Formats: sequence, C-alpha cells, structure tokens
Amino acid sequence: MESQRPGDLAQQLGAIVGEENVLANDIPEAYTHDEAIDLPPVQPLAVVFVRSSAQVVELIRWARATRIPIVARGTGTGLSGGARPAREGIVCSFERMNRILSIDTGDLTARVEAGTTLAQLEQALDGTPYFYPVYPGEMSATIGGNIATNAGGMRAVRYGVTRHNVLGLEFVTGTGTALRSGGSYVKTSSGYDLTQLITGSEGTLALVTEVLVRLSLRPRHRRLLLASFLNFQDVAQAVVAISDRGLEPSVMEYMEASGLIAMAQHVDINLGVSAQIMSEASAFLMVELEGMHAGTLDAMTADLIDTLVSTASTEQYLLDEHQRQELIRAREAAFWTVKHLGATTILDTVVPRSKLAPLFDGIAHYGRTSDTLVVGTGHVGDGNVHLSLFAADPQAGAATAKAIIDLALELGGAISGEHGIGVAKRQYLLDQIEPDRLALYRSIKAVFDPQDLLNPGKLL
Ligand SMILES: Cc1cc2nc3c(=O)[nH]c(=O)nc-3n(C[C@H](O)[C@H](O)[C@H](O)COP(=O)(O)OP(=O)(O)OC[C@H]3O[C@@H](n4cnc5c(N)ncnc54)[C@H](O)[C@@H]3O)c2cc1C
Repeated sequence: MESQRPGDLAQQLGAIVGEENVLANDIPEAYTHDEAIDLPPVQPLAVVFVRSSAQVVELIRWARATRIPIVARGTGTGLSGGARPAREGIVCSFERMNRILSIDTGDLTARVEAGTTLAQLEQALDGTPYFYPVYPGEMSATIGGNIATNAGGMRAVRYGVTRHNVLGLEFVTGTGTALRSGGSYVKTSSGYDLTQLITGSEGTLALVTEVLVRLSLRPRHRRLLLASFLNFQDVAQAVVAISDRGLEPSVMEYMEASGLIAMAQHVDINLGVSAQIMSEASAFLMVELEGMHAGTLDAMTADLIDTLVSTASTEQYLLDEHQRQELIRAREAAFWTVKHLGATTILDTVVPRSKLAPLFDGIAHYGRTSDTLVVGTGHVGDGNVHLSLFAADPQAGAATAKAIIDLALELGGAISGEHGIGVAKRQYLLDQIEPDRLALYRSIKAVFDPQDLLNPGKLL
C-alpha cells in the first residue's frame, strides 16, 4: 500500500465522488464501528459516500491501483463488526445512494438502490396492499446491508430471510466489474446463482449497488398471544407443536422471564401479566398470527390457545392492538435493553427446531456452572436464539460463548443464524470449518476479489 496524505487522499477520492462526498479529516465517531458490542473502534483513512454504480466501479479501480482496502457500510447497524473499518482502509458508505427506483405491483417487486433503508421502503409501500416482509428489528438498516448479512428477523418464521426475498442484484466485484444477476421472475435454472452467492457474503465478494426484492401482500388482520411457561422444555415443545399444527405464525419469539421484565420496563409497557405469573414463569412465548379474514384468524387463535394449553403453557394473554404494537416495539428494542444493562457478548446461534430442548438445557448448564450470566430471547420459531452474555471476566465470557457455539454445532446447528460472522465470530468459524470448505471459500473470494481489497479480515 502506498502511503497517502489526507489531502492527497481527499483530492483523489473527491475526483471520483465529488469533494462534498468525502470525509478525510474529523471523521465522525459513528463511522469507526458498527453496533457489535465487544469490538474496539477503528479509524478509517476516509469515508466516501457513493451515489452511483459508476462511482463504485471507479472507486474499486482506484483501490486496485493504490491497494487501499474498502469496507462497505450501510448504516452500521450490524452486530458482528462487518462494517467496522479496515486499518488503513476507506469506508464506502451507501447511505446517500438510496433511491427507490421502481415498485412493480404486477410482478410484486421493488427495485431499490443499496442504501435504501427498510424504513424508506416501508414508507413508500405504506397505504398499498403490499409490503416487504423482512423485518430485522432495526428499520434504519439498509437493504444492501441486509443482503450482505442475509438478515432475518422476527417474520422469517413465515416469510423467510433476505435470501428468500431477493430476486436480483446489481453489484461490482473486487476487479471493478459491474454485473447484474437475477430478474423479475420467481424461478430460474440458468447457471450459477450469483444473487444467492453474494447474499450473505458480508461485503467480501462485491459491493452491491442495486437490489430487486420480492414484495408480499400485506395481511389485513393480526393477533398476538403472549404465553407463559414454567420451564424451557415446554417452550421447545410448544414451538414444535405450533409448527406441526400448520398455523404458520408470522412471529414466534421466546423471552426469558427476566428478559421480558427488562424489555417491558425499558419501553414502559403494561402487558397485563399478573405479578404471580411474572414471578413463577421461566419464559414467555410471543406468537403472532395474521390473515386476510378476521373470522379465520379468530378460529386460528382458538386453535393456537388449545395448542399452547396442551403443551403446558400456564397462561395465555391475547393482547389488544396497542399492547401488540408495544410488545413488538419492546422486542425490537431488546438489543438496546441488554446493551444498556451491560451485556458483554451477543450470540445468535441457530439449531434445528427439534433440537431446541437440548440447546436450552446446555445454555442453562453453562449459565449455572460458569461465571457468566446468560439471558435469552430470540426467533425461536426458526431455532434461532439470541443470547446476551454478561461476564465480568472476558476470558470466562469467551469460554462460555465457545461452549454454547460448540453445543449448537454438535446439535447440527450453525454459528450465526442472521447477524453474520464479521470479525466478532470469525475465530469460531475458522476453528470449526473443514479445510476443504475453507479452501473453496478462499478460492471463490480470490476470483471475485483477487487483491483482497473488499472487507479484508472479515468472515474468512
Ligand atoms: C436493535 C437492533 C436489532 C437488530 N435485529 C436484527 C434481527 O432481528 N435480525 C437480523 O438479521 N439482524 C438484526 N440486526 C442487525 C442489523 O440490523 C443487520 O445486520 C442489517 O442487515 C445491517 O444493515 P446495515 O445497513 O446497518 O449494514 P452495516 O452494518 O452497515 O453492514 C453490515 C455488513 O454489510 C456489508 N455491506 C453493507 N452495505 C453493503 C453493500 N451495499 N454492498 C456490500 N456489502 C455491504 C458491510 O460491509 C458489513 O459487512 C439488528 C441490529 C440492531 C441494532
């Protein structure tokens, strides 16, 4: 890498994107990290705000000539350090490349620039019969960031994760080649699926400039039930029973009782749960059903209550619309609640749904036998648990985190269900990946980005 003075650097980058789109001095602190809680910030050489695919091509050509790495950034809401700057690298921010290019209600698609946030897309669709169902709890996240992390969220149990809702991409590889993949069709058998390869690649293969997403029909009615349980084994059984019943919930989240109390206090809501139930329950399950016809939904709700009772739920609360929205809001804010309370690590391990019971057993065991407090919430309908670890001793916390990840892998699961590997979970990946798979990953990376300029040191 050639040594660059800030003045030279700003001038060169300004020639590509315009000087008003470059920050090389006094870079705001926000650009030195994402929302991962256990990683120190890194100061980039500069932040560049791209506005077009042609600028991204030019930027990558410049990076190839100067050998300065580029880290893509949406809005930095990631939880694994993916958008954390590379040392001596530049940040390529997509936040000013955020136009909604088209909404096609015939084909049920929307074409957006990568920096479009989920909130912007929802605003554009508000009042229409359509919505974009991927709901990773943080509406300021960009669609490009969602593609890069393959974001999931609360509604994945019904609608799938980002990769099930993306039909096509425009992207620029690490060689500076701009390409399009996919299109407004729902099926294809026409060669390697580059859309799916880039989705989940965490900005290491290509910079995504445009995204074609699939829209869904907005349900007219929703019901949210909160159910209490005396133990986690019953929660695990209820998740399987609800899925087997064909109720297709749009949300199925669990919350440890202490987690629910903290969340409700954090956003100041009253769910109407009695003090006795709050003190007896170990965990709560939050199940949302949705549909077009209120009558059908009422019948499904009755069926859900039967299923919950048959799996030993102690109480079921059908929330009113205000409580429903508030509980969803509290669940969205769970990350801020545990951050505020001093969580030292966040895990988002996933296992097959049928293996939730042994996973819960193992988590309870590690919580009891280590110096780490472990509090769980999560998208349990997908087998995806979000664990907040509170450890005074970082080594003890890391050992507990590793033990939980090892258990999830033994149960046939994976390290991350939706937040990605980034930096925070990279060592776990490198410790467990088979050598042949790692070699294949690295050769794919080398084809897309032979100079290792795109998000070096992340994922692999
Ligand atoms: C309160 C809170 C709740 C959350 N809940 C969930 C949840 O339920 N489910 C879930 O999945 N996630 C959740 N997240 C994590 C986060 O919102 C997602 O990871 C999201 O996809 C990140 O989007 P972003 O625009 O902020 O991306 P960033 O954090 O800016 O970047 C994330 C990764 O994407 C890469 N990237 C960004 N833009 C591009 C691009 N255009 N081209 C190529 N690579 C790019 C970056 O290099 C980085 O590796 C939550 C975060 C918060 C703060």
